[in-house]
Amino acid sequence: MKILLATQNRNKVKEIAELLDERFQLLDLNDFPVNEDLPETGDTFAANALQKARYVFDKFGIPTIADDSGIEADALNGAPGIYSARYAGEEKDPEKNMNKLLNEMAVHSNKTARFRCAMAFISEQGEYVFEGEIEGKIIPERRGNGGFGYDPVFIPEGYDLTFSELSSEVKNKISHRAIAMQKLVNFLTH
Ligand code: IMP
Repeated sequence: MKILLATQNRNKVKEIAELLDERFQLLDLNDFPVNEDLPETGDTFAANALQKARYVFDKFGIPTIADDSGIEADALNGAPGIYSARYAGEEKDPEKNMNKLLNEMAVHSNKTARFRCAMAFISEQGEYVFEGEIEGKIIPERRGNGGFGYDPVFIPEGYDLTFSELSSEVKNKISHRAIAMQKLVNFLTH
């Protein structure tokens, strides 16, 4: 089965590719270029994931997956949330985003946070969304070199290492994206 992955984020493509088995032929926006930014004007992860998937499915007519994800800090009432990618501005700079998050968090003792992911799937058969989340905490400074985005400042519950310090194998077993993808793969294969 051919599936088109509607994301311009290479890190997401890599993680999602590792979570799909050989039954699926994964195509991405390098194979089907979209020059504009995908629309994401919804107010939930699920709405944004569906919006991106619809846009790409309508254009190419190939079964499409889109991921919308982000990090929510409880002390910040769920911010940055759906604004995670552009928290510190439209240039979507991960270092600036992390600096802003660490600055905002510095005055709060409650460090609890979670990553959330909504994975939308659209084909001729219909529209579906699968969600995943992982609880954890935000630490005051970056640790580790792996992963992307806010990985250096997030420690998942039950671990002492950040997502950046954990191997990609471990992150890809426990992450918000892995949980959402497992649900989607289960749906596609049953
Ligand atoms: P989106 O591409 O609009 O869904 O933005 C997602 C943003 O959330 C990314 O740019 C990252 O800043 C953050 N994010 C989502 N998933 C992860 C992850 O697994 N690790 C670190 N940051 C993530």
